Amino acid sequence: MLCDALVVGAGVVGLATACALARAGRQVVVIEAETAPLQHASSRNSEVVHAGLYYEPGSLKARACLQGRAALLALCERTGVRVHHCGKFVLAASADELPALSQLAARAAANGVELHERDGAAIAALEPEVRCVAGLWSPRSAIVDSHGLGRALLRALQDAGGSVVYGCRFERAEPGAAGLRVWAGGDEVVARTLVLAGGVATPRLLASIAGARCRFTLPHRLARGHYFALAGGPRFRHLLYPLPEPGGLGIHVTLDLEGNVRLGPDVEWIDACDRGGALALDYRVDESRADAFVRSVVRWVPSLRAEHLRPAYAGIRAKLVGPGEPAHDFVIADHREHGIDGVVALLGIESPGLTACLALGAAAADAAGA
Ligand SMILES: Cc1cc2nc3c(=O)[nH]c(=O)nc-3n(C[C@H](O)[C@H](O)[C@H](O)COP(=O)(O)OP(=O)(O)OC[C@H]3O[C@@H](n4cnc5c(N)ncnc54)[C@H](O)[C@@H]3O)c2cc1C
Repeated sequence: MLCDALVVGAGVVGLATACALARAGRQVVVIEAETAPLQHASSRNSEVVHAGLYYEPGSLKARACLQGRAALLALCERTGVRVHHCGKFVLAASADELPALSQLAARAAANGVELHERDGAAIAALEPEVRCVAGLWSPRSAIVDSHGLGRALLRALQDAGGSVVYGCRFERAEPGAAGLRVWAGGDEVVARTLVLAGGVATPRLLASIAGARCRFTLPHRLARGHYFALAGGPRFRHLLYPLPEPGGLGIHVTLDLEGNVRLGPDVEWIDACDRGGALALDYRVDESRADAFVRSVVRWVPSLRAEHLRPAYAGIRAKLVGPGEPAHDFVIADHREHGIDGVVALLGIESPGLTACLALGAAAADAAGA
């Protein structure tokens, strides 16, 4: 079978890339190993539309976050996907955190992101459970219905003539005379363009293409993040973040569109393990982690107790670096990176990948020559 553009992965990034390719006139098929879209990182996150405070100015993360945010909000507006513009505070729990808060404010300014300084009393007036010395108010942070977003992307893809095949696992590929020979779901197809948007699995998918170079060596380490729901106890109206920590943004208070409150995600480094030739992803939440959550958040929510927390869900971040190493930028790898014509791989698409999905999809489609 011949296929013009084959996209692996029906998370938000794969679907956004497929939409961009289809709109550029390409015949697109998405293959997804699961029986439904958005079964991994795209539905196992904080659902925050990030304003773009944290990222190295000029980096792909910074650019894709800002461009992606604008495109995402426009898509949600057009298609009726629910967004709540709740805004967020980043908090300094004690005076020794003030220099880090100032550094974050400077980075946000360098990224052109609107932020306002607030003192502890002003924040407590809006969030009575919070105690802090100061904070930054980000009015442009919001939350989005990630499943609604997935449905909107699927509709857009279908409207542009693309389709998704579920229960179809990409196995391997090799360059051939007529294009890339791809083995997936027990069949062989020939694709002119192959986009790998497999989330945490992408380094392995790239390594399974004969002759591909991959600088992000295997086996790599993964960073799981757990969430606990708040049942009873303090209530909140805004997103509340501590200062970022190595590997993540720090255990924060996040809201969903039903008004439920969750705490998370923490950072637990885990080894990437195989099950039946695929990456085994363990999303269990160990109840005993609740104590560490309380120790972290009680610094700025003194009324929080372990009995308020119920295990909710976990997600796994697509990391390109291990513990203790500086954060890595998103990578959109084409033949110059891995040596294979016609292949584009999206690597290290951790946060803010949900916010940035449409910008990443447009950039990946460009890299594929759409
Ligand atoms: C804990 C956590 C919190 C986060 N919070 C936020 C946030 O608040 N805001 C934000 O902007 N971003 C956030 N992110 C980041 C965001 O969720 C991800 O960047 C984004 O969802 C990545 O989408 P994706 O499509 O690349 O990956 P995924 O959603 O993981 O999709 C990859 C797809 O590829 C499929 N696949 C893999 N291997 C194969 C194969 N061999 N064959 C066929 N299909 C395959 C998988 O089944 C999966 O459906 C968070 C991430 C995590 C983990």
